[in-house]
Amino acid sequence: MSDATAKKEERRKFQAIRGTRDILPPETALWNHVEQTAHGVFSTFGYGEIRLPIFEPTDLFARSIGEETDVVSKEMYSFMDIAVPRLPRLANMITEWPWPDPTSDEEQFSAYQRCVSAFTDEYERAVADDELHPSPVNKQALQDIKDRSNTLSGTSLKDAQSKQLARESVRAIGLAVRIAEVGDYLTLRPEATASVCRAYIEHGMQSLPQPVKLYYMGPMFRRERPQKGRYRQFYQIGAEILGGTDAPGIDAEVIEMLMTFFDKCGLQGATLYINSIGHNAENCRRGYIEKLKAALEKVKDKLGPDSQRRIDTNPLRVLDSKLESEQAIIATLPHIADHLCDECKTHYAEVKRQLQVRGVLYQENWRLVRGLDYYMRTTFEITAPGLGSQNAVCGGGRYDGLVELLGGPPTKGIGFAIGEDRLILSLQESGKGQVPQGRDIYIAWMGEKAHATAIRAAKDLRKAGFSVDLPPLEQKFGKALGQADKLGAKYALILGDDEVSEGLWTLKTLSTGEQTKFTESDLLEFLRQQKNVSS
Ligand code: AMP
Repeated sequence: MSDATAKKEERRKFQAIRGTRDILPPETALWNHVEQTAHGVFSTFGYGEIRLPIFEPTDLFARSIGEETDVVSKEMYSFMDIAVPRLPRLANMITEWPWPDPTSDEEQFSAYQRCVSAFTDEYERAVADDELHPSPVNKQALQDIKDRSNTLSGTSLKDAQSKQLARESVRAIGLAVRIAEVGDYLTLRPEATASVCRAYIEHGMQSLPQPVKLYYMGPMFRRERPQKGRYRQFYQIGAEILGGTDAPGIDAEVIEMLMTFFDKCGLQGATLYINSIGHNAENCRRGYIEKLKAALEKVKDKLGPDSQRRIDTNPLRVLDSKLESEQAIIATLPHIADHLCDECKTHYAEVKRQLQVRGVLYQENWRLVRGLDYYMRTTFEITAPGLGSQNAVCGGGRYDGLVELLGGPPTKGIGFAIGEDRLILSLQESGKGQVPQGRDIYIAWMGEKAHATAIRAAKDLRKAGFSVDLPPLEQKFGKALGQADKLGAKYALILGDDEVSEGLWTLKTLSTGEQTKFTESDLLEFLRQQKNVSS
Protein backbone atom coordinates (compact mmCIF):
# COMPACT_ATOMS: atom_id res chain seq x y z
CA MET A 1 0.00 0.00 0.00
CA SER A 2 1.38 3.44 -0.92
CA ASP A 3 1.81 6.09 1.74
CA ALA A 4 -0.98 8.14 0.24
CA THR A 5 -3.42 5.19 0.25
CA ALA A 6 -2.45 4.28 3.80
CA LYS A 7 -3.10 7.85 4.89
CA LYS A 8 -6.47 7.82 3.13
CA GLU A 9 -7.37 4.55 4.90
CA GLU A 10 -6.38 6.09 8.23
CA ARG A 11 -8.59 9.07 7.57
CA ARG A 12 -11.52 6.92 6.59
CA LYS A 13 -11.47 5.13 9.93
CA PHE A 14 -12.97 7.97 11.89
CA GLN A 15 -16.71 7.81 11.68
CA ALA A 16 -19.42 8.40 14.24
CA ILE A 17 -19.85 5.24 16.30
CA ARG A 18 -22.70 2.94 15.28
CA GLY A 19 -25.96 4.17 16.76
CA THR A 20 -24.65 7.71 17.25
CA ARG A 21 -24.88 10.51 14.72
CA ASP A 22 -24.10 14.12 14.03
CA ILE A 23 -27.07 16.42 13.88
CA LEU A 24 -26.27 19.15 11.41
CA PRO A 25 -27.65 22.48 10.28
CA PRO A 26 -30.29 23.12 9.05
CA GLU A 27 -31.80 20.24 11.09
CA THR A 28 -30.35 21.63 14.32
CA ALA A 29 -32.63 24.67 13.88
CA LEU A 30 -35.60 22.31 14.28
CA TRP A 31 -34.02 20.76 17.39
CA ASN A 32 -33.55 24.22 18.85
CA HIS A 33 -37.12 25.12 18.01
CA VAL A 34 -38.43 21.99 19.77
CA GLU A 35 -36.23 22.63 22.81
CA GLN A 36 -37.23 26.30 23.00
CA THR A 37 -40.87 25.21 22.81
CA ALA A 38 -40.26 22.83 25.74
CA HIS A 39 -38.60 25.59 27.80
CA GLY A 40 -41.52 27.89 27.02
CA VAL A 41 -44.41 25.47 27.63
CA PHE A 42 -42.95 23.81 30.72
CA SER A 43 -42.19 27.13 32.37
CA THR A 44 -45.81 28.24 31.87
CA PHE A 45 -46.76 25.18 33.95
CA GLY A 46 -44.33 26.20 36.71
CA TYR A 47 -41.48 23.77 36.00
CA GLY A 48 -37.82 24.63 36.49
CA GLU A 49 -34.98 23.14 34.47
CA ILE A 50 -32.56 20.70 36.08
CA ARG A 51 -29.22 19.88 34.44
CA LEU A 52 -27.88 16.50 35.41
CA PRO A 53 -24.60 14.65 35.06
CA ILE A 54 -24.21 12.41 32.02
CA PHE A 55 -22.76 9.63 34.16
CA GLU A 56 -23.74 8.29 37.55
CA PRO A 57 -22.87 5.28 39.70
CA THR A 58 -23.99 2.10 37.95
CA ASP A 59 -25.84 1.09 41.07
CA LEU A 60 -28.22 4.07 40.83
CA PHE A 61 -29.62 2.75 37.55
CA ALA A 62 -29.42 -0.91 38.53
CA ARG A 63 -31.51 -0.20 41.59
CA SER A 64 -34.06 2.16 40.05
CA ILE A 65 -34.61 0.59 36.63
CA GLY A 66 -34.24 -2.98 37.89
CA GLU A 67 -31.48 -5.57 37.39
CA GLU A 68 -33.67 -7.82 35.27
CA THR A 69 -34.77 -5.19 32.71
CA ASP A 70 -33.21 -5.16 29.23
CA VAL A 71 -31.85 -1.68 29.88
CA VAL A 72 -29.83 -2.73 32.93
CA SER A 73 -28.98 -6.29 31.98
CA LYS A 74 -27.96 -5.65 28.36
CA GLU A 75 -27.96 -2.05 27.27
CA MET A 76 -25.96 0.10 29.66
CA TYR A 77 -22.63 1.66 28.81
CA SER A 78 -20.74 1.00 32.01
CA PHE A 79 -17.08 1.37 32.79
CA MET A 80 -14.74 1.40 35.69
CA ASP A 81 -13.46 4.86 36.50
CA ILE A 82 -9.95 3.91 37.52
CA ALA A 83 -8.78 5.96 40.48
CA VAL A 84 -5.02 5.55 40.09
CA PRO A 85 -3.62 3.89 36.94
CA ARG A 86 -0.92 2.14 38.98
CA LEU A 87 -3.51 0.21 40.99
CA PRO A 88 -4.83 -2.08 38.24
CA ARG A 89 -1.23 -2.64 37.08
CA LEU A 90 -0.19 -3.73 40.58
CA ALA A 91 -3.35 -5.83 40.95
CA ASN A 92 -2.54 -7.52 37.68
CA MET A 93 1.04 -8.23 38.77
CA ILE A 94 -0.20 -9.81 42.00
CA THR A 95 -2.87 -11.99 40.40
CA GLU A 96 -0.77 -12.88 37.33
CA TRP A 97 2.58 -13.15 39.13
CA PRO A 98 5.01 -13.86 36.27
CA TRP A 99 6.67 -16.77 38.01
CA PRO A 100 4.71 -19.91 38.65
CA ASP A 101 5.17 -19.64 42.38
CA PRO A 102 6.25 -16.50 44.27
CA THR A 103 7.32 -18.71 47.15
CA SER A 104 9.87 -20.61 45.06
CA ASP A 105 12.85 -18.59 46.33
CA GLU A 106 13.64 -15.78 48.76
CA GLU A 107 14.24 -13.17 46.08
CA GLN A 108 10.87 -13.65 44.38
CA PHE A 109 9.18 -13.94 47.71
CA SER A 110 10.36 -10.51 48.82
CA ALA A 111 9.63 -8.97 45.38
CA TYR A 112 6.10 -10.31 45.63
CA GLN A 113 5.69 -8.89 49.14
CA ARG A 114 6.91 -5.49 47.99
CA CYS A 115 4.32 -5.57 45.21
CA VAL A 116 1.51 -6.39 47.68
CA SER A 117 2.62 -3.57 50.01
CA ALA A 118 2.76 -1.14 47.09
CA PHE A 119 -0.82 -2.15 46.23
CA THR A 120 -2.18 -1.64 49.75
CA ASP A 121 -0.28 1.65 50.17
CA GLU A 122 -1.54 2.96 46.84
CA TYR A 123 -5.09 1.82 47.62
CA GLU A 124 -5.13 3.52 51.00
CA ARG A 125 -3.68 6.69 49.57
CA ALA A 126 -6.39 6.77 46.89
CA VAL A 127 -9.08 6.32 49.57
CA ALA A 128 -7.49 9.06 51.75
CA ASP A 129 -7.40 11.39 48.72
CA ASP A 130 -11.10 10.69 48.09
CA GLU A 131 -10.31 9.18 44.70
CA LEU A 132 -11.64 5.75 45.56
CA HIS A 133 -14.85 4.93 47.39
CA PRO A 134 -14.61 1.36 48.53
CA SER A 135 -17.76 -0.61 49.28
CA PRO A 136 -17.93 -2.62 52.54
CA VAL A 137 -16.93 -5.69 50.50
CA ASN A 138 -13.87 -3.88 49.19
CA LYS A 139 -12.91 -2.65 52.65
CA GLN A 140 -13.03 -6.23 53.86
CA ALA A 141 -10.92 -7.37 50.89
CA LEU A 142 -8.26 -4.78 51.67
CA GLN A 143 -8.19 -5.82 55.31
CA ASP A 144 -7.74 -9.45 54.21
CA ILE A 145 -4.84 -8.48 51.97
CA LYS A 146 -3.15 -6.60 54.81
CA ASP A 147 -3.65 -9.44 57.31
CA ARG A 148 -2.27 -11.99 54.87
CA SER A 149 0.58 -9.69 53.97
CA ASN A 150 1.50 -9.46 57.67
CA THR A 151 1.44 -13.23 57.86
CA LEU A 152 3.77 -13.38 54.88
CA SER A 153 6.29 -10.97 56.37
CA GLY A 154 6.55 -13.15 59.45
CA THR A 155 6.96 -16.32 57.38
CA SER A 156 10.21 -17.82 56.22
CA LEU A 157 10.50 -20.33 53.42
CA LYS A 158 12.79 -22.59 55.44
CA ASP A 159 10.62 -25.59 56.16
CA ALA A 160 7.76 -27.25 54.31
CA GLN A 161 5.17 -26.13 56.83
CA SER A 162 5.97 -22.41 56.59
CA LYS A 163 6.21 -22.68 52.80
CA GLN A 164 2.70 -24.17 52.79
CA LEU A 165 1.45 -21.29 54.97
CA ALA A 166 3.06 -18.78 52.57
CA ARG A 167 1.38 -20.45 49.58
CA GLU A 168 -2.01 -20.30 51.24
CA SER A 169 -1.57 -16.61 51.99
CA VAL A 170 -0.51 -15.91 48.38
CA ARG A 171 -3.65 -17.66 47.14
CA ALA A 172 -5.85 -15.70 49.56
CA ILE A 173 -4.20 -12.40 48.58
CA GLY A 174 -4.85 -13.20 44.91
CA LEU A 175 -8.55 -13.74 45.60
CA ALA A 176 -8.92 -10.58 47.71
CA VAL A 177 -7.11 -8.45 45.11
CA ARG A 178 -9.60 -9.66 42.51
CA ILE A 179 -12.47 -8.54 44.75
CA ALA A 180 -10.97 -5.15 45.66
CA GLU A 181 -12.24 -2.79 42.97
CA VAL A 182 -9.66 -0.34 41.77
CA GLY A 183 -12.17 2.31 40.75
CA ASP A 184 -15.86 3.20 40.73
CA TYR A 185 -18.39 1.54 38.43
CA LEU A 186 -20.02 4.28 36.42
CA THR A 187 -22.66 4.25 33.70
CA LEU A 188 -23.64 6.68 30.96
CA ARG A 189 -27.20 7.51 31.87
CA PRO A 190 -29.78 5.42 30.01
CA GLU A 191 -32.57 7.68 31.31
CA ALA A 192 -32.87 10.55 33.75
CA THR A 193 -35.65 9.81 36.25
CA ALA A 194 -33.24 8.08 38.64
CA SER A 195 -30.87 11.06 38.48
CA VAL A 196 -33.70 13.53 39.18
CA CYS A 197 -34.73 11.48 42.24
CA ARG A 198 -31.11 11.27 43.37
CA ALA A 199 -30.80 15.05 43.04
CA TYR A 200 -34.10 15.56 44.91
CA ILE A 201 -32.72 13.56 47.84
CA GLU A 202 -29.17 14.94 47.65
CA HIS A 203 -30.32 18.57 47.73
CA GLY A 204 -32.97 18.04 50.40
CA MET A 205 -35.68 19.24 48.02
CA GLN A 206 -38.32 17.68 50.26
CA SER A 207 -37.97 20.82 52.40
CA LEU A 208 -38.99 23.06 49.48
CA PRO A 209 -42.68 23.82 48.83
CA GLN A 210 -44.11 20.60 47.37
CA PRO A 211 -44.47 19.34 44.75
CA VAL A 212 -41.15 20.12 43.11
CA LYS A 213 -41.61 20.34 39.33
CA LEU A 214 -38.51 19.75 37.27
CA TYR A 215 -37.72 19.18 33.60
CA TYR A 216 -34.57 18.18 31.76
CA MET A 217 -33.30 17.56 28.27
CA GLY A 218 -30.21 15.88 26.90
CA PRO A 219 -28.57 12.74 25.57
CA MET A 220 -29.21 9.23 26.94
CA PHE A 221 -27.27 6.09 26.09
CA ARG A 222 -28.49 2.55 25.51
CA ARG A 223 -26.78 -0.20 23.59
CA GLU A 224 -29.80 -1.17 21.50
CA ARG A 225 -29.86 -2.43 17.93
CA PRO A 226 -29.86 0.75 15.85
CA GLN A 227 -32.74 1.26 13.41
CA LYS A 228 -34.99 4.11 12.30
CA GLY A 229 -35.94 6.00 15.46
CA ARG A 230 -33.67 3.89 17.65
CA TYR A 231 -30.18 5.03 18.46
CA ARG A 232 -27.49 4.30 21.01
CA GLN A 233 -27.13 7.97 21.82
CA PHE A 234 -30.58 9.49 21.72
CA TYR A 235 -32.16 12.54 23.27
CA GLN A 236 -34.94 12.85 25.76
CA ILE A 237 -36.94 15.77 27.06
CA GLY A 238 -38.58 14.81 30.32
CA ALA A 239 -40.26 16.15 33.41
CA GLU A 240 -40.86 14.87 36.93
CA ILE A 241 -43.13 16.07 39.72
CA LEU A 242 -41.90 14.99 43.12
CA GLY A 243 -43.46 15.36 46.55
CA GLY A 244 -46.82 16.59 47.77
CA THR A 245 -50.00 14.84 46.82
CA ASP A 246 -50.85 12.11 44.34
CA ALA A 247 -54.16 13.80 43.51
CA PRO A 248 -55.45 12.82 40.05
CA GLY A 249 -55.21 16.51 39.08
CA ILE A 250 -51.41 16.14 39.07
CA ASP A 251 -51.55 13.22 36.63
CA ALA A 252 -54.06 14.98 34.40
CA GLU A 253 -52.11 18.23 34.36
CA VAL A 254 -48.80 16.60 33.50
CA ILE A 255 -50.49 14.91 30.53
CA GLU A 256 -52.19 18.16 29.54
CA MET A 257 -48.78 19.86 29.56
CA LEU A 258 -47.34 17.15 27.32
CA MET A 259 -50.14 17.42 24.80
CA THR A 260 -49.85 21.24 24.84
CA PHE A 261 -46.15 20.86 24.09
CA PHE A 262 -46.74 18.43 21.20
CA ASP A 263 -49.41 20.72 19.83
CA LYS A 264 -47.10 23.78 20.01
CA CYS A 265 -44.39 21.78 18.20
CA GLY A 266 -46.88 21.14 15.37
CA LEU A 267 -46.98 17.37 15.89
CA GLN A 268 -49.99 15.94 14.09
CA GLY A 269 -51.78 12.66 14.60
CA ALA A 270 -50.37 11.98 18.08
CA THR A 271 -52.40 9.45 20.06
CA LEU A 272 -52.41 9.37 23.83
CA TYR A 273 -52.90 5.98 25.49
CA ILE A 274 -53.53 5.71 29.20
CA ASN A 275 -53.97 2.96 31.76
CA SER A 276 -53.87 2.39 35.50
CA ILE A 277 -51.77 -0.42 36.90
CA GLY A 278 -53.05 -0.04 40.47
CA HIS A 279 -50.65 -0.41 43.36
CA ASN A 280 -48.47 -3.16 44.73
CA ALA A 281 -50.94 -4.81 47.15
CA GLU A 282 -52.77 -8.10 47.45
CA ASN A 283 -56.22 -6.54 46.89
CA CYS A 284 -54.92 -4.74 43.78
CA ARG A 285 -52.02 -5.41 41.38
CA ARG A 286 -50.53 -8.39 43.22
CA GLY A 287 -53.91 -10.13 43.14
CA TYR A 288 -54.21 -9.34 39.44
CA ILE A 289 -50.74 -10.71 38.73
CA GLU A 290 -51.72 -14.01 40.36
CA LYS A 291 -54.77 -14.23 38.10
CA LEU A 292 -52.71 -13.25 35.08
CA LYS A 293 -50.12 -15.91 35.92
CA ALA A 294 -52.80 -18.58 36.25
CA ALA A 295 -54.31 -17.56 32.90
CA LEU A 296 -50.86 -17.55 31.28
CA GLU A 297 -50.02 -21.03 32.62
CA LYS A 298 -53.09 -22.33 30.77
CA VAL A 299 -51.87 -21.00 27.42
CA LYS A 300 -48.14 -21.42 28.07
CA ASP A 301 -47.64 -23.90 25.20
CA LYS A 302 -48.89 -21.37 22.67
CA LEU A 303 -46.45 -18.64 23.77
CA GLY A 304 -42.93 -17.99 22.54
CA PRO A 305 -39.87 -18.66 24.74
CA ASP A 306 -39.56 -15.04 25.95
CA SER A 307 -43.14 -14.89 27.18
CA GLN A 308 -42.90 -18.38 28.68
CA ARG A 309 -39.93 -17.23 30.74
CA ARG A 310 -41.72 -14.06 31.80
CA ILE A 311 -44.64 -16.00 33.29
CA ASP A 312 -42.32 -16.66 36.22
CA THR A 313 -40.02 -13.65 36.17
CA ASN A 314 -42.36 -10.78 35.27
CA PRO A 315 -45.79 -11.80 33.94
CA LEU A 316 -46.92 -8.19 33.36
CA ARG A 317 -44.29 -7.88 30.68
CA VAL A 318 -45.98 -10.57 28.58
CA LEU A 319 -48.54 -7.86 27.82
CA ASP A 320 -45.77 -5.81 26.13
CA SER A 321 -45.20 -8.56 23.57
CA LYS A 322 -45.23 -7.44 19.94
CA LEU A 323 -45.09 -11.01 18.57
CA GLU A 324 -47.83 -11.42 15.97
CA SER A 325 -48.50 -15.03 16.97
CA GLU A 326 -49.19 -14.06 20.60
CA GLN A 327 -51.63 -11.21 20.03
CA ALA A 328 -54.82 -13.29 19.85
CA ILE A 329 -53.88 -15.16 23.03
CA ILE A 330 -53.01 -11.97 24.93
CA ALA A 331 -56.41 -10.55 23.96
CA THR A 332 -58.08 -13.27 26.06
CA LEU A 333 -56.12 -12.48 29.26
CA PRO A 334 -57.75 -10.77 32.25
CA HIS A 335 -57.64 -6.94 32.31
CA ILE A 336 -56.11 -5.09 35.25
CA ALA A 337 -58.95 -2.53 35.28
CA ASP A 338 -61.27 -5.27 36.56
CA HIS A 339 -58.96 -5.99 39.50
CA LEU A 340 -58.07 -2.56 40.83
CA CYS A 341 -58.78 -1.78 44.48
CA ASP A 342 -61.45 0.86 45.16
CA GLU A 343 -58.96 3.66 45.74
CA CYS A 344 -57.02 3.02 42.55
CA LYS A 345 -60.26 2.65 40.61
CA THR A 346 -61.48 6.04 41.89
CA HIS A 347 -58.10 7.62 41.15
CA TYR A 348 -58.15 6.33 37.57
CA ALA A 349 -61.75 7.46 36.99
CA GLU A 350 -60.88 10.93 38.23
CA VAL A 351 -57.75 11.16 36.01
CA LYS A 352 -59.96 10.35 33.01
CA ARG A 353 -62.63 12.85 34.04
CA GLN A 354 -60.05 15.59 34.48
CA LEU A 355 -58.50 14.84 31.10
CA GLN A 356 -61.94 15.38 29.59
CA VAL A 357 -62.38 18.64 31.49
CA ARG A 358 -59.02 19.77 30.10
CA GLY A 359 -60.03 18.82 26.58
CA VAL A 360 -57.35 16.12 26.29
CA LEU A 361 -58.36 13.22 24.04
CA TYR A 362 -57.17 9.77 25.06
CA GLN A 363 -57.61 6.09 24.40
CA GLU A 364 -57.42 3.45 27.08
CA ASN A 365 -54.92 0.65 26.56
CA TRP A 366 -55.11 -2.05 29.21
CA ARG A 367 -51.81 -3.54 27.98
CA LEU A 368 -49.80 -0.46 28.91
CA VAL A 369 -47.86 -1.74 31.90
CA ARG A 370 -44.55 -1.20 33.61
CA GLY A 371 -42.76 -4.18 35.06
CA LEU A 372 -41.38 -2.62 38.25
CA ASP A 373 -42.96 -2.66 41.70
CA TYR A 374 -42.59 1.03 42.38
CA TYR A 375 -44.66 2.03 39.34
CA MET A 376 -48.27 2.56 40.23
CA ARG A 377 -51.59 3.82 39.01
CA THR A 378 -51.34 6.07 35.96
CA THR A 379 -49.24 4.95 32.99
CA PHE A 380 -49.30 6.63 29.60
CA GLU A 381 -47.71 6.53 26.20
CA ILE A 382 -47.97 8.72 23.13
CA THR A 383 -47.46 7.47 19.61
CA ALA A 384 -46.93 9.54 16.50
CA PRO A 385 -47.23 8.75 12.80
CA GLY A 386 -44.37 8.33 10.34
CA LEU A 387 -42.10 6.36 12.66
CA GLY A 388 -42.57 2.74 11.58
CA SER A 389 -42.28 0.20 14.37
CA GLN A 390 -40.62 2.64 16.81
CA ASN A 391 -43.69 4.84 17.04
CA ALA A 392 -43.70 5.72 20.77
CA VAL A 393 -42.64 9.34 21.21
CA CYS A 394 -43.25 9.48 24.92
CA GLY A 395 -43.66 7.19 27.90
CA GLY A 396 -44.58 8.09 31.43
CA GLY A 397 -46.17 7.11 34.67
CA ARG A 398 -46.52 7.39 38.40
CA TYR A 399 -43.74 5.99 40.56
CA ASP A 400 -44.54 6.73 44.18
CA GLY A 401 -41.99 4.31 45.63
CA LEU A 402 -38.88 5.34 43.72
CA VAL A 403 -37.45 8.11 45.89
CA GLU A 404 -37.75 5.87 48.95
CA LEU A 405 -36.09 3.00 47.08
CA LEU A 406 -33.12 5.31 46.47
CA GLY A 407 -32.80 6.18 50.15
CA GLY A 408 -35.06 9.23 50.40
CA PRO A 409 -38.28 9.81 52.33
CA PRO A 410 -41.60 8.38 51.05
CA THR A 411 -42.37 10.69 48.13
CA LYS A 412 -45.05 10.78 45.47
CA GLY A 413 -43.74 11.00 41.94
CA ILE A 414 -44.89 11.08 38.35
CA GLY A 415 -43.07 11.91 35.14
CA PHE A 416 -42.52 11.31 31.46
CA ALA A 417 -39.74 11.14 28.91
CA ILE A 418 -40.17 12.26 25.31
CA GLY A 419 -37.95 10.73 22.63
CA GLU A 420 -36.76 13.92 20.96
CA ASP A 421 -35.21 12.12 17.97
CA ARG A 422 -38.55 10.49 17.20
CA LEU A 423 -40.49 13.70 17.73
CA ILE A 424 -38.20 15.43 15.21
CA LEU A 425 -38.54 12.53 12.75
CA SER A 426 -42.30 12.66 12.96
CA LEU A 427 -42.32 16.45 12.45
CA GLN A 428 -40.08 16.05 9.41
CA GLU A 429 -42.20 13.24 7.94
CA SER A 430 -45.33 15.36 8.22
CA GLY A 431 -43.64 18.35 6.54
CA LYS A 432 -43.69 20.33 9.79
CA GLY A 433 -39.95 20.23 10.11
CA GLN A 434 -39.22 23.43 8.25
CA VAL A 435 -37.76 26.19 10.35
CA PRO A 436 -36.99 29.45 8.49
CA GLN A 437 -33.42 29.32 7.30
CA GLY A 438 -30.89 31.43 5.48
CA ARG A 439 -29.30 34.80 6.09
CA ASP A 440 -31.13 38.04 6.11
CA ILE A 441 -28.37 40.02 4.47
CA TYR A 442 -25.25 39.27 2.46
CA ILE A 443 -22.87 42.20 2.20
CA ALA A 444 -21.19 42.47 -1.19
CA TRP A 445 -18.29 44.87 -0.85
CA MET A 446 -15.44 46.06 -3.09
CA GLY A 447 -12.63 48.44 -2.22
CA GLU A 448 -10.70 49.45 0.90
CA LYS A 449 -13.07 52.15 2.07
CA ALA A 450 -16.08 49.97 1.39
CA HIS A 451 -14.56 47.18 3.49
CA ALA A 452 -14.34 49.35 6.60
CA THR A 453 -17.94 50.50 6.06
CA ALA A 454 -19.06 46.90 5.47
CA ILE A 455 -17.54 45.81 8.77
CA ARG A 456 -19.36 48.61 10.56
CA ALA A 457 -22.63 47.87 8.75
CA ALA A 458 -22.38 44.17 9.66
CA LYS A 459 -21.88 45.08 13.31
CA ASP A 460 -24.87 47.45 13.38
CA LEU A 461 -27.16 45.09 11.49
CA ARG A 462 -26.26 42.14 13.74
CA LYS A 463 -26.83 44.34 16.77
CA ALA A 464 -30.29 45.07 15.40
CA GLY A 465 -30.92 41.28 15.26
CA PHE A 466 -30.35 40.55 11.55
CA SER A 467 -28.26 37.60 10.43
CA VAL A 468 -25.47 38.91 8.25
CA ASP A 469 -22.79 37.32 6.11
CA LEU A 470 -19.72 39.43 5.50
CA PRO A 471 -17.30 37.77 3.06
CA PRO A 472 -13.74 37.95 4.38
CA LEU A 473 -12.23 38.65 0.96
CA GLU A 474 -13.15 41.12 -1.72
CA GLN A 475 -15.28 39.59 -4.47
CA LYS A 476 -16.54 40.92 -7.79
CA PHE A 477 -20.17 41.99 -7.30
CA GLY A 478 -21.45 39.30 -9.71
CA LYS A 479 -19.77 36.54 -7.77
CA ALA A 480 -20.87 37.97 -4.44
CA LEU A 481 -24.50 38.12 -5.56
CA GLY A 482 -24.30 34.50 -6.76
CA GLN A 483 -22.98 33.48 -3.36
CA ALA A 484 -25.76 35.44 -1.62
CA ASP A 485 -28.30 33.52 -3.70
CA LYS A 486 -26.75 30.15 -2.84
CA LEU A 487 -26.86 30.95 0.86
CA GLY A 488 -30.56 31.81 0.59
CA ALA A 489 -30.03 35.42 1.70
CA LYS A 490 -33.06 37.69 1.44
CA TYR A 491 -31.07 40.81 0.60
CA ALA A 492 -27.68 41.77 -0.71
CA LEU A 493 -26.25 45.02 0.57
CA ILE A 494 -23.98 46.38 -2.14
CA LEU A 495 -21.13 48.59 -0.95
CA GLY A 496 -18.59 49.93 -3.40
CA ASP A 497 -16.35 52.95 -2.88
CA ASP A 498 -18.94 55.07 -4.79
CA GLU A 499 -21.75 54.10 -2.45
CA VAL A 500 -19.58 54.92 0.53
CA SER A 501 -18.57 58.36 -0.69
CA GLU A 502 -22.17 59.18 -1.77
CA GLY A 503 -23.52 57.93 1.58
CA LEU A 504 -26.18 55.97 -0.32
CA TRP A 505 -26.15 52.20 0.02
CA THR A 506 -27.74 49.82 -2.47
CA LEU A 507 -30.03 47.09 -1.20
CA LYS A 508 -31.00 44.33 -3.61
CA THR A 509 -34.01 42.11 -2.82
CA LEU A 510 -32.81 38.79 -4.15
CA SER A 511 -36.23 37.24 -4.79
CA THR A 512 -37.35 40.08 -7.09
CA GLY A 513 -34.05 41.56 -8.26
CA GLU A 514 -35.30 45.00 -7.20
CA GLN A 515 -32.57 47.49 -6.14
CA THR A 516 -33.09 50.54 -3.96
CA LYS A 517 -30.70 53.16 -2.60
CA PHE A 518 -30.92 54.12 1.07
CA THR A 519 -29.08 56.28 3.52
CA GLU A 520 -27.68 54.28 6.38
CA SER A 521 -30.46 55.16 8.81
CA ASP A 522 -33.24 54.70 6.24
CA LEU A 523 -31.85 51.27 5.40
CA LEU A 524 -32.06 50.09 8.99
CA GLU A 525 -35.58 51.46 9.28
CA PHE A 526 -36.66 49.75 6.04
CA LEU A 527 -35.21 46.38 7.11
CA ARG A 528 -36.87 46.64 10.51
CA GLN A 529 -40.24 47.31 8.91
CA GLN A 530 -39.83 44.38 6.51
CA LYS A 531 -38.95 42.09 9.40
CA ASN A 532 -42.07 43.13 11.33
CA VAL A 533 -44.24 42.50 8.27
CA SER A 534 -42.88 38.98 7.78
CA SER A 535 -42.85 37.91 11.45
P1 AMP B 1 -38.30 5.04 28.09
O1 AMP B 1 -37.29 5.83 28.88
O2 AMP B 1 -37.81 3.69 27.67
O3 AMP B 1 -39.67 5.03 28.73
O4 AMP B 1 -38.47 5.83 26.71
C1 AMP B 1 -39.13 7.05 26.60
C2 AMP B 1 -39.06 7.50 25.16
O5 AMP B 1 -37.69 7.66 24.78
C3 AMP B 1 -39.59 6.47 24.18
O6 AMP B 1 -40.98 6.61 24.03
C4 AMP B 1 -38.85 6.82 22.93
O7 AMP B 1 -39.50 7.88 22.25
C5 AMP B 1 -37.52 7.32 23.42
N1 AMP B 1 -36.47 6.28 23.29
C6 AMP B 1 -36.21 5.26 24.12
N2 AMP B 1 -35.15 4.53 23.68
C7 AMP B 1 -34.74 5.13 22.53
C8 AMP B 1 -33.69 4.87 21.58
N3 AMP B 1 -32.83 3.86 21.73
N4 AMP B 1 -33.58 5.69 20.51
C9 AMP B 1 -34.43 6.74 20.33
N5 AMP B 1 -35.42 7.03 21.19
C10 AMP B 1 -35.58 6.25 22.28
